[in-house]
Amino acid sequence: MTNPSPISPPSASGGLLQDTIAATATPPGRGGVAVVRISGPDALAVLGRIFRAGRGATLASPSPVMPPRRLVYGVVFDAEGAALDDVLAAYMPGPHSFTGEDVCEISCHGGQGVTAELLSSVLAFGARAAQAGEFTRRAFLNGRMDLTQAEAVAELIEAPTREGVRLARAKLEGALGAAVTRLREQVDSLRIQITLCVDFPEDDAELLSESNFARRLDESISSIDALLAAFDRARLWREGAQAVLAGSVNAGKSSLLNALLGRPRAIVSSSPGTTRDYIEESVNIKGLPLRVVDTAGLRTGGDLVEEEGIRRTGDLARQADLVLLVLDASGERSPEEADFLARHRERFAQGRLLIICNKVDALGGNEAERDAKARAVGNALCEAAFGKDALHLPAQAEDAGGTAAPGAQWPCFPVSAKEGSGLEALCAALYACLVQEGGADMQNDVSPNLRQAKLLEAAKSDLSELARAQARNVPADLLGVHLESAAANLAEVTGFSGTEELYDTIFSTFCIGK
Ligand code: GDP
Repeated sequence: MTNPSPISPPSASGGLLQDTIAATATPPGRGGVAVVRISGPDALAVLGRIFRAGRGATLASPSPVMPPRRLVYGVVFDAEGAALDDVLAAYMPGPHSFTGEDVCEISCHGGQGVTAELLSSVLAFGARAAQAGEFTRRAFLNGRMDLTQAEAVAELIEAPTREGVRLARAKLEGALGAAVTRLREQVDSLRIQITLCVDFPEDDAELLSESNFARRLDESISSIDALLAAFDRARLWREGAQAVLAGSVNAGKSSLLNALLGRPRAIVSSSPGTTRDYIEESVNIKGLPLRVVDTAGLRTGGDLVEEEGIRRTGDLARQADLVLLVLDASGERSPEEADFLARHRERFAQGRLLIICNKVDALGGNEAERDAKARAVGNALCEAAFGKDALHLPAQAEDAGGTAAPGAQWPCFPVSAKEGSGLEALCAALYACLVQEGGADMQNDVSPNLRQAKLLEAAKSDLSELARAQARNVPADLLGVHLESAAANLAEVTGFSGTEELYDTIFSTFCIGK
C-alpha cells in the first residue's frame, strides 16, 4: 500500500504557462465598455508597446510606469502605430492576480471594431490568442483556485437567478473545495490506520476498534451524503421537478392540469379514457419549475393501448418526484384507486404522494362542508388502502416515528378543477413537499455539480464497500484498496488528481476571455 498522497494542486507542466495570452473578456457586440485582458510573463511588456499614459499621448511619448492595481488613463495604438482609442489600463502583478500571473486589462469603448483592433494590436505585439477558459485554467494550474472554484466561475457566469448566483458564489469562495478537502483528510487518516494494521496484522481488529474506525468511516459517509443531498436540492431549482397525475378515468386529471396551467391543453372529455399517452406541461410553483404529466387513467379492462398507458403510469409514479392521485370526490371509489395507493405506499410514506379530492363543487353545502366531505372521501380511501391502524403520514412520519398522531389528517386536498378552488392551498403543499425541510437549508447549501456529484457517489460507494468488508472481518491489507479508490475520487473533485483530458473537457465549456 502506498502512502497517502499530499493534498496539493497539480504542477503547471508542459510549458503551458510560458507564453502570454490575450482575449476580449467582455461579450461580443456593442456596449459602453469592452475589456481586453492579457496574462503571462510579458503582459506588462505588451501593454508598454501599445499604450501611452495621458491625453493626446503619442507612441513616441515615454512608456508609462504602471502602478500596480490602479487605473491609468491613456491612449492605445493599433498595429500600424495609429492612435486607436482612449482607454483605462490596469496592471495586476502576479502572483496576487486572477490567473496568478502578471495580468493587464485595458478598458476601451465597447464597439466591435475598436475591440477587435485593440486585440489585434495586443496579438501583433507579442501575445497569443487565449483559448476558451484559458485564464481560469491558468488560475487553477497556478494554485489560485481548485477545480470546484474554477467550475464555480462558469456557474456564476451562467447563473440566471439570484439563487443560482448565491450557490455559485459559495463555491467560488471555496466552500465545496474545503468540504471535500476535509473529507480527503478523514479518508487519509483512515488509510494511515489501515497501514498500521497491515504492519501489525495480529492486532488488526483491536487496532481498528480502538481507533473508532467504523465510526469515523460512518462520519465520512454521512458527510458525503450531506453533499449529495445538497446536490438533489439544487437540482430541483436547476432542472425543476416532475409530478405525475394518476387517478381513475374521468376523475378530472386533465381538467386539473388545465387549471394549474390556466389554459386548456389536455383534452377534457366526459367519455372515459381520453388521455392515453402523456401530456407534460411545466407549471411554475413559487418560482420552482414543476413538470406535470397527465397520464392514462387507472381503469383496467380497457384496450391494449390503454393498458400499456396504465402500466407506464405505474413506472412514472415510481420515478417522479411527486405523485398526485386525483379522485372524483363526488363519485364512487374504484378498487384500482386503493390498489394504486397500496402499491405506491412507499412514495406515500416519503411524503411524495398527495391525494387530490376533485369536484368539491358537486358535493353540496357551504365551502367548509364541501371540503370536509371531500377530505372524508380521501381519508376513507387511505384507510381502505392501508388499514385504520397503519397510519403513516408523511408530515408526522419523522416526529412520531412513522406513526401519525391521533386525529392527524391524511394529505388530502379538496379542489375543484372546474371552478379553480383549492388550487392555492394545493400549490403551497406541492411546494412544501418538493422543497421539504431542505428549503430552509438552501441558504447554507454548498452543492456539487453533476461531475462532482458522480465522483462523490463513487467515493461513497468505495467507503460503503469498505464498511461492509470490515464488518465481514476482511484482512486490513484488502481494505486499503477501497480507501485508495475513495481518495482518488475525492481528489478528482477538487482537480488535484485530474488529467489533461479532464481539464480540457471542463475548461472548453468556458467562454473565451474567462
Ligand atoms: P380525466 O379523465 O381524469 O383526465 O378527467 P377529465 O379532466 O377529462 O374530466 C372528466 C369529466 O369531469 C369532464 O366532463 C370534466 O368537465 C369533469 N370535471 C373535471 N373536473 C371537475 C370539477 O372540478 N368539477 C366538476 N363538476 N366536474 C369536473
